[in-house]
Amino acid sequence: ENVVNRIAAGEIVQRPANALKELIENSLDANATNIIITVKAGGLKYLQIQDNGTGIRHDNLDIVCERFTTSKLQQYEDLQEISTYGFRGEALASISYISHLTILTKTAADKCAYKASYENGKLKGPIKACAGNNGTQITVEDLFYNVLARKKSLRSATEEYSHIMEVVGGYAIHNSHVGFTLKKFGENTDIKTSIKSTVVENIRILKLFFLKLDPRNVDVNVHPTKHEVQFLYEEQIIDKIKSCIEAKLLSCNS
Ligand code: ADP
Ligand code: MG
Repeated sequence: ENVVNRIAAGEIVQRPANALKELIENSLDANATNIIITVKAGGLKYLQIQDNGTGIRHDNLDIVCERFTTSKLQQYEDLQEISTYGFRGEALASISYISHLTILTKTAADKCAYKASYENGKLKGPIKACAGNNGTQITVEDLFYNVLARKKSLRSATEEYSHIMEVVGGYAIHNSHVGFTLKKFGENTDIKTSIKSTVVENIRILKLFFLKLDPRNVDVNVHPTKHEVQFLYEEQIIDKIKSCIEAKLLSCNS
C-alpha cells in the first residue's frame, strides 16, 4: 500500500517546485500575510516554508498528513463554491510519502507551539510541545529519497531553484498583500532574494491576463494539482479577453 501511495505521490509532486506550490497555497488558505521560504540544493535536500497564518490545531496534528484530510470542505455543496486553493487533502499526505516531513505550528489560542514528524501519511513519534510563533512552519527534507528514478533525473539544483523562483514569483504577483521571502539555506541571510523586486518587470504583462471569475464557473476537478482547470462558459471568456485586448490596442493607437 505504501508503494502505491508513493507512486501516486510522485505523480502529484514531480519536482520540489510542485511541493512548494502546494505548501504556499496552504499558507495562503490559512490567511498568511508573510511567507518565508528557505531552500537547500534547489529544494531537493531541504525545503522549508514558514507562515504567520492561523496555525493547525493541536488535535488535528495527528491526522493532518492522512489522505483526504482537509479542513476546507465541510459538505458536498461546498464543492460548488470553492474559493480556497486546497480541498482534496492530498498535498501533505503525498509529500509525507516521499520525504521527511516536519510540522511546527501554533494557533493564537495555544500557549505554545507543537512539533510533529510524519512518514507515509502517518505521525511518526510523539507530538512535542515547543516554542514558536503563531503560524505554521513546514520542513520537507530529502525529497524523493525513496523514489530513486526521480532522484536521479532531478540532478540540477540550479534548475530546480529556477522553478522555485518561478512559483514564488507567480504567487507574489497575485497576492500583493502577502510578503514573500526566498532564501538559500546556509547563505548569508542579508542577500535573501526579495521576490517582490525581481518580478516587478513582469507585472504589467501579467496584469493583462489577470482573470477573476466566480468560483462556481470554474471546475477545479480536472487535474489533481489544479494545473488545468475547466472554465464553464469558455467561449464567453475568450470573447471577453478578445474585446479587452482590442479595446486596449485601440486606446494605445489613438
Ligand atoms: P487541502 O489543502 O486540500 O485541505 P492539504 O494536504 O494541502 O489539503 O492540507 C491538509 C490540511 O492541513 C488543510 O486542510 C489544513 O487544515 C491543514 N494545513 C496545511 N497547511 C497549513 C498551513 N500552512 N496553515 C494552516 N493549516 C494548514
Ligand atoms: Mg493544500
